[in-house]
Amino acid sequence: MTNRTIIDVIAVGAGFAGIYALYNMLHAGFSARVFEAVDSVGGIWH
Ligand SMILES: Cc1cc2nc3c(=O)[nH]c(=O)nc-3n(C[C@H](O)[C@H](O)[C@H](O)COP(=O)(O)OP(=O)(O)OC[C@H]3O[C@@H](n4cnc5c(N)ncnc54)[C@H](O)[C@@H]3O)c2cc1C
Repeated sequence: MTNRTIIDVIAVGAGFAGIYALYNMLHAGFSARVFEAVDSVGGIWH
């Protein structure tokens, strides 16, 4: 059996832009996730 999760918004990259998009989408009532290529968040500021 396949276990599926429905997500409204996907942000690609957990830099400032992705984290801010995730924050706004969650506060707007959407289900949202951020996908990050590396093992840390913060992007260029990390
Ligand atoms: C030295 C320096 C000083 C700065 N000072 C300032 C300042 O004073 N004020 C200011 O406003 N701005 C400043 N900036 C600019 C600011 O840091 C950037 O504009 C901003 O952080 C960019 O954020 P971002 O989320 O768009 O990108 P990034 O921070 O680059 O994040 C992108 C993320 O996406 C991930 N990613 C990329 N491709 C994929 C993929 N295919 N799948 C999953 N994840 C992926 C990366 O791993 C990364 O974590 C500075 C930049 C530098 C380098």
